[in-house]
Amino acid sequence: MLVIAIDGPAGSGKSTVAREVAARLGLDYLDTGAMYRAVTFAAIRRGIDPEDAELVAELCRNLTLEVAETVSVDGVDATIEIRSPEVTRAVSTVAANPAVRRELVERQREWAAAHGGGVVEGRDIGSVVFPDAPVKVYLTADDAERALRRSREMLELHYDQVAADIARRDHADSNRPVAPLGVAEDAVALDTTDRPVEAVVDEVLRLVADRS
Ligand code: C5P
Repeated sequence: MLVIAIDGPAGSGKSTVAREVAARLGLDYLDTGAMYRAVTFAAIRRGIDPEDAELVAELCRNLTLEVAETVSVDGVDATIEIRSPEVTRAVSTVAANPAVRRELVERQREWAAAHGGGVVEGRDIGSVVFPDAPVKVYLTADDAERALRRSREMLELHYDQVAADIARRDHADSNRPVAPLGVAEDAVALDTTDRPVEAVVDEVLRLVADRS
């Protein structure tokens, strides 16, 4: 089973690179951030406080999630809604909940087993979810570049607001006690700041050819 783990902070280029690598290798692709966002969306929709660890954990265990090209939560399409500023603000709190992580990590492993491996992107994929993945990549980019990329996608928000949101999320994701964002020991760190997507994709494909 070939799993390619792609981790890194918001705006580092994970999704773009992971999708392209998956397409080039004929593998399936899983966005694990969309899973944490989907749980956050479901909590908000049901009026559950994201800080209420027990209620959110129970919600998560009982949630029907489908994460592919579209994201559905209990049968309702939430592809757009999971990217809303409201979900983005609350997602790090939900992602710091150990019971939520346990449940989603299990689902991520089941997904890979069912799909015969794949390209999986997130924050803890190489360190926790698939520690034996033969290829682990950690993407980074300058803070200003990451904020610029995100603000091009979030037209309703100002650059300053996007930059502040990213900084807050970086801090929360890097400092939580369970599965904090970080570079796995055997991961290859790639800076995507001034590099075209194709160059980064080619480098990941070279690693795959070398290591698998
Ligand atoms: O990748 P994206 O920015 O959509 O992820 C949203 C949030 O989900 C992150 O800020 C992080 O809190 C959480 N996350 C995580 N572990 C993952 C993927 C995402 O904690 N593997």
